[in-house]
Amino acid sequence: MSGPQTTTHSPPRRRIAVMTSGGDAPGMNGAVRAVVRTAIANDCEAYAIYEGYDGLVKGVDKKGNEMIKKMEFDDVRGFLGVGGTKIGTARCKEFRERAGRLRAAKNMIQKGIDALIICGGDGSLTGADLFREEWPGLLEELVKTGELSGNDIQPHKHLNIVGLVGSIDNDLSMTDATIGCYSSLERICRNVDDVYDTAASHQRAFVVEVMGRHCGWLALMAGLATGADYVFLPENPPPEDWQDKMGKIVETHRARGKRTTIVIVAEGAHDRNLQKIPAQEVTKFLAESLGLDARTTVLGHTQRGGVPCFYDRFLGTLQGAEAVKAVLDTTPETPSPVICMIENKIVRRPLLEAVKQTKEVAKAIESKDFGRAMSLRDAEFEEYMKVFNIIAGTGTENIKLPEEKRLRIGIIHVGAPAGGFNAATRAAVAYCLARGHTPVALHNGFPGLIRHHSDKPIGSVRDIDWLDAESWVNLGGSEIGTNRGLPSEDLETVAMVFKEYNIQALFLIGGFEAFTALSELRTSRQYYSAFKIPMTILPGTVSNNVPGTEYSIGSDTSLNALIQYCDTCRQSASSSRRRVFIIETQGGESGYLATLAGLSIGALAVYTPEEGIGIDMIKRDIDHLREVFAADKGKARAGKIILVNEKASKTYDVKTIKGIIDEEAKGRFESRWNVPGHWQQGTTPSPMDRVRAARFGVRSIEHLESFGGKSKDDIDEDPMSATVIGIKGAKVLLSPMEVVEKRETNWKLRRPKNEYWLGLKDMVDELSGRPYKRAEH
Ligand code: ATP
Repeated sequence: MSGPQTTTHSPPRRRIAVMTSGGDAPGMNGAVRAVVRTAIANDCEAYAIYEGYDGLVKGVDKKGNEMIKKMEFDDVRGFLGVGGTKIGTARCKEFRERAGRLRAAKNMIQKGIDALIICGGDGSLTGADLFREEWPGLLEELVKTGELSGNDIQPHKHLNIVGLVGSIDNDLSMTDATIGCYSSLERICRNVDDVYDTAASHQRAFVVEVMGRHCGWLALMAGLATGADYVFLPENPPPEDWQDKMGKIVETHRARGKRTTIVIVAEGAHDRNLQKIPAQEVTKFLAESLGLDARTTVLGHTQRGGVPCFYDRFLGTLQGAEAVKAVLDTTPETPSPVICMIENKIVRRPLLEAVKQTKEVAKAIESKDFGRAMSLRDAEFEEYMKVFNIIAGTGTENIKLPEEKRLRIGIIHVGAPAGGFNAATRAAVAYCLARGHTPVALHNGFPGLIRHHSDKPIGSVRDIDWLDAESWVNLGGSEIGTNRGLPSEDLETVAMVFKEYNIQALFLIGGFEAFTALSELRTSRQYYSAFKIPMTILPGTVSNNVPGTEYSIGSDTSLNALIQYCDTCRQSASSSRRRVFIIETQGGESGYLATLAGLSIGALAVYTPEEGIGIDMIKRDIDHLREVFAADKGKARAGKIILVNEKASKTYDVKTIKGIIDEEAKGRFESRWNVPGHWQQGTTPSPMDRVRAARFGVRSIEHLESFGGKSKDDIDEDPMSATVIGIKGAKVLLSPMEVVEKRETNWKLRRPKNEYWLGLKDMVDELSGRPYKRAEH
């Protein structure tokens, strides 16, 4: 065994079993791995129940194989990157009956298991809670019928249940994301992007049906991420005259010059009278009434399978680890929790409440109370709906502001591009136009502005129209051009151009340079009144090192690119076995990228600038590698990976580390070093970056427009006139720059003072079995 050694003197604290149930979802394997390894690291025994409740009820399969198996550290090796569920899942009729649950209870007692972590949908979690409720009665009955003795049941009087939500539909209330939903969204968006190209070539219309019987999350997010014209969702059905409404939108978009029409239909879509709206019916309308060359595409089960994306590996891992902690924390009185994610925070919620609320959505839909159905979804869902409507132009006829409140809003990109720059700009442009503002592109960052007069007649300042931005939704890079240069290169010219073009608000997108640029503009207001305008930065960088937020657009795209790279390296080692890859990651002075990638690929070790690299550390990791490879005995045909942030050490770069490892390995194993470099910026932005970019883009402009009509002095005095938008814990916030700059910024190391993810570094070590904690070196 290559995992951490457990104390063997006392009996194990708990026997914790994990099961996957209901429909499979990418990321379930990561959750199972995290449960098993966290349990072992906490001196518990881990069990896996194969084939969902079927395994629990039967105990052994037809061939006599155990379906409730004790798991060792190495048994979950290689799980993270695999789609579906490696421990199997099933729909089990017997468990719905008390007799089935009685057998299940007996099997559990016989194995000494008294804590069950279930990863599944609302049905699986309902079954689990019922099981817990009945547990004392089930045990009593087992004793009464003589199947078990009083002694047998004595240590297992209480059953702990913890839920993890694994579902591609993202249909559980009280959590923003379920394990699997982003991988599924990723697959849908990839398909719609492909269809978009052919649609644009032939000026066709495509109606794409996606999964979601009671929940329109996939349809809505896919619509937003791919620039669809219209979406059909079960919880927010279209008006009765949907043909007219949709027809007008499509015709307006076509009249403006759009060459494609994309409509996304959730499989459970219906009208306000609960009459099903099949994708084919929408296609027929587009073809017959609008005369479009229209086709239907049904994505089906391709949405379910495949390699989990970064976020699902991350979510599954964090939630699996948290579930074990929840088991260890709970008392017999604690209600069963379900592990949820709110924005960027893992939280525990009462399982029963979450399931009840989820079922209420279906009930509200059945009783045609669609307002209630929407309100029972999380707040994020409603906001995304609003953003979609604004961008697509649904119901935006009367939202124009009065003339005196309209602004000329400059949009500028600063620093290296990251996934989502264009999606944020597109959303900001659409919102500006809907409200009557004028969106103005400031091309090629601040150096573009500084060169503006010498570059004339083209210049760097141009109003953006709807069609310009419409097709940017899924493009990587920066369509308006970006540059690292700062305004301090020539503040006077920047102020002059702002004045000349009457820039009345500024929306910046970028990383630490953009943050610095905004700081420079804000602190120069006393010299240049042109900067006494509302300004907001949307953090966008692969490094995710901007103070004032825990998430920057582009970081998700980058993590997906990086884990794909690492998966490829690892696979290439499958024939040569004993090989370790030393891979250099970007991230500047922040180890975010390396740590989160490490967590989601199961890196053997992660070297970050926050921790630095020492010779002792390398030596210990070489010793660990020796043990791991020696224990392998040909079992694990996979390479090991050490991720090294580009600035983790001035001395030990990837090449040097490789040299040391080769020298010390003495032929027992070998190493390779790789630098993925700009590969990490990714190509097509991930759906998460696209939808969040759109949401934050709209929120930023909403904030900027709240200053419409205010005097320059009033703006100057208001700390909220220069802000950074971001996620902090469970909230999306706009924070005043003057506070963030002073209290939250490590200017020297160009990163936040408190990096929320630092604690995850220990989790990487724990889950990879690295045999020491950071505090020791
Ligand atoms: P998905 O969202 O993919 O459908 P789910 O967990 O909701 O996942 P279900 O088929 O509803 O999927 O439930 C999975 C299994 O959980 C069922 O086959 C059954 O064994 C058990 N289960 C579901 N509901 C109950 C219930 N009310 N009582 C007991 N067991 C249940």
